[in-house]
Amino acid sequence: MFEGLSDRLSGILSGLTRRGALTEADVTAAMREVRRALLEADVALEVVRGFTDKVKEKAVGAVVLKSVTPGQMVVKIVNDELVAMLGTDAETIDLNAPAPVPILMVGLQGSGKTTTTAKIARRLSDREKRKVLLASLDTRRPAAMEQLAVLAKQVGVESLPIIAGQSAVQIAKRAMDAARLGGFDVVMLDTAGRTTVDEALMAEAAEVKAATQPHEVLLVADALTGQDAVNTARAFDQRLGVTGIVLTRMDGDSRGGAALSMRAVTGKPIKLVGTGEKVDALEEFHPARVANRILG
Ligand code: GDP
Repeated sequence: MFEGLSDRLSGILSGLTRRGALTEADVTAAMREVRRALLEADVALEVVRGFTDKVKEKAVGAVVLKSVTPGQMVVKIVNDELVAMLGTDAETIDLNAPAPVPILMVGLQGSGKTTTTAKIARRLSDREKRKVLLASLDTRRPAAMEQLAVLAKQVGVESLPIIAGQSAVQIAKRAMDAARLGGFDVVMLDTAGRTTVDEALMAEAAEVKAATQPHEVLLVADALTGQDAVNTARAFDQRLGVTGIVLTRMDGDSRGGAALSMRAVTGKPIKLVGTGEKVDALEEFHPARVANRILG
């Protein structure tokens, strides 16, 4: 039977009946389990190391309270550290800038970028009553442009009319002009999808960024791709300066490792999570829930 990390830690430390401070030997045994559990949850190795060191530092010498067992005490320290590492609750999209506020959406093809763009537009429009304009900059894939236009209709926001032959920067500028003229609050720019971190497309996104000065650069990453998503996030952040992450397919990721790695490696907040294919399947990110998944 599968045992969660909490059970395993309690098991290891159940032999400790004495009260008082946890010793280094007690904690070392427990950290072996923590390490194994994090690796099973697909947390990046470098993150696992830093994490167990931090927990160890807090746990050795910690005085076990009368009301809890040593196992429960260590579980609590691990939980608190996981939550701290995952960041604060309910980060929001920052729209605190003169309208129209540009938001640049970046990410690998298939990560859910276009769907997420529509999901966020719907949220900003319905909940925050913002007038949102969507524009696809995917000049290489006409189908992607059509897809965004269809999704825009579905969520009840406008999309920039498609004009063939324009470059990504030209479309982005046209979107900003249209938004100014039309009194829009937010312009979401959906950059070209790519199957790998490709220099030509990075340069194109950087050019769009320079031309539009986006207030948010949101990286959309697929939680199911684990370590690959982390490497992707690092590459996008180094090149484009990401301001926040949206993790998709959290409905299929029961392990939570990508979220922890992503946050720890990039230092950028996870702002929202995708939890399904439908346009309303977008939720705020709650660190405590992910910590619970990892702890089991
Ligand atoms: P893009 O190439 O990055 O623009 O990806 P798309 O937006 O076209 O999404 C690719 C597929 O992933 C579509 O079938 C989406 O419905 C699906 N998708 C997007 N986000 C989620 C999510 O959070 N959960 C699930 N289960 N599917 C998603």
